[in-house]
Amino acid sequence: MTDLLTVRDVEKSFGELQVLRGISFDVPAGSVTAVIGPSGSGKTTMLRTLNALDRADTGVITIGDLTVDFSGEVDRATLTRFRLQSGMVFQNHNLFPHMTVLQNIIEGPVVVQKRPREEAVADARRLLDQVGLAEKADQYPFQLSGGQQQRVGIARALALKPKLMLFDEPTSALDPELVGDVLRVIKDLASDGWTMVVVTHEIRFAQHVADQVLFLDGGVVVESGPPQRVLTEPAEARTRQFLDRILNPI
Ligand code: ADP
Ligand code: MG
Repeated sequence: MTDLLTVRDVEKSFGELQVLRGISFDVPAGSVTAVIGPSGSGKTTMLRTLNALDRADTGVITIGDLTVDFSGEVDRATLTRFRLQSGMVFQNHNLFPHMTVLQNIIEGPVVVQKRPREEAVADARRLLDQVGLAEKADQYPFQLSGGQQQRVGIARALALKPKLMLFDEPTSALDPELVGDVLRVIKDLASDGWTMVVVTHEIRFAQHVADQVLFLDGGVVVESGPPQRVLTEPAEARTRQFLDRILNPI
């Protein structure tokens, strides 16, 4: 399988604090990569560099047919194109509170991508159906549960037709009984062939859905490989300790 995403030697500092210390990995088209690692290890920062919400200081990122070398100057048009290659779903959906579900989803396609409104609406209704919320189009975010809001967030990211979907702990802010609905939507996207990078603490999800797992610690990929290996027989002591802590919290 050809790679849809390649990441080479990405580094990122905030002031004196070096958060990413040379991150490299590949994501084949149509595959799911789960990213695990302790709090503060750089997972969110890494995802944010993948769609240039944070600009990498150095390193080269390729998504589809677009390669950007962040060591040099990157012009605005390239950066805009780069950002639209991927869709991002955050831990806390950040829906616009004053817009209906449908308006939230069509905002990007209509305002940013200048697509015809009727086409964007038809797409949005199809996406809402896909995430199991066809009947919620005219509701406002406050009228939905956290899990439903998160699924609208997924539909909104999909509406921009990205090549790659990025998820940052999409279920960590949810009540436990709502987690499954969101994970199922992500699992269905995987079955549909979406290429995805998912930061998650849901180890069972990673085990069943991911094609590869990356364990991040201290701003480097300490270990990566198929979930059966990384999650059940990790080679590195740091990976073992981390998994032991989250699987046996008390
Ligand atoms: P994780 O998602 O693995 O918990 P983060 O990428 O959020 O880790 O954070 C990694 C480190 O970078 C933390 O020490 C965090 O405080 C720091 N950090 C993240 N974003 C910023 C920022 N915008 N400014 C300064 N420090 C930041
Ligand atoms: Mg994080």
